[in-house]
Amino acid sequence: MRLCRFDDDRLGLVKGDEVLDVSEAIGVIPETRWPAPPGDALIAHLDAVCAEVAKLEGSAKARPIKDVTLKSPVANPTKVIGAPVNYAKHIAESQADPQIAPGQKILGIEDYGPFLKANSSLVGPGEGVALRFTDRRNDHEGELGVVISKSCVDIPLDKAGDYIAGYALALDMTVRGNEDRSVRKSLDTYSVLGPWLVTKDEIADPNNLDLKLWVDDEVRQDSNTSYLIFNVEKLIAWCSSFYTLHPGDIIMTGTPEGVGPVKAGNTITLEIEQVGRMEVAVRNA
Ligand code: MN
Repeated sequence: MRLCRFDDDRLGLVKGDEVLDVSEAIGVIPETRWPAPPGDALIAHLDAVCAEVAKLEGSAKARPIKDVTLKSPVANPTKVIGAPVNYAKHIAESQADPQIAPGQKILGIEDYGPFLKANSSLVGPGEGVALRFTDRRNDHEGELGVVISKSCVDIPLDKAGDYIAGYALALDMTVRGNEDRSVRKSLDTYSVLGPWLVTKDEIADPNNLDLKLWVDDEVRQDSNTSYLIFNVEKLIAWCSSFYTLHPGDIIMTGTPEGVGPVKAGNTITLEIEQVGRMEVAVRNA
């Protein structure tokens, strides 16, 4: 299933170019009192929601998807996790960057560890990216996003696939500078997830998907997730060795080579095979 969140937090089932309004399915999510359990309630109850969506599909009202505002399909993750330097050719371009001090060596992903992006930076493609610090370079990083299905910690590699709810396209936007990565990648709108969640059952192998990113008409990134250094399952196992993952937690799996600057007025288009395609407008904050 392809599930989206649109307009004023409606739930949609995506079929081709249309979105079926299946918001009634949200009713199967139990009401909670403060404090809410950690994680995204829709993802935590995804099986029940999908069963209800299937019942509603036949009678749901359809709208052209181009007429709705797509938000992040995950509303309330406890963490947005980033994977640094997870493609070999991106390490090479990072090493060659003039901003790297002479003698400074880009380390491997296992040396850096995962990083966190503020949840408040999360938006959907319909909300766009609002640049800050426009005197500096603001870069796109197109990535495969993985959404965690249930709470887990210290997951062995051979069980990691059991904790995937689904996949989405992810933009890990970055402003360059000397501040900590958790600052530069956490500005409002600097984490884009969309255009929908593709449930796990629809993708046989997340580690072999073509990924392509354009800025306006120019191809900037063109790779395949088979080049991931830590693949999807390894990332889940590795991240869960640092902290408990909860339903709806998002792992941005890292960006391939071709990272480059964007400016107000640009449109970033990201496409990942079997997942989808999203267009994200860039403006100044
Ligand atoms: Mn990244």
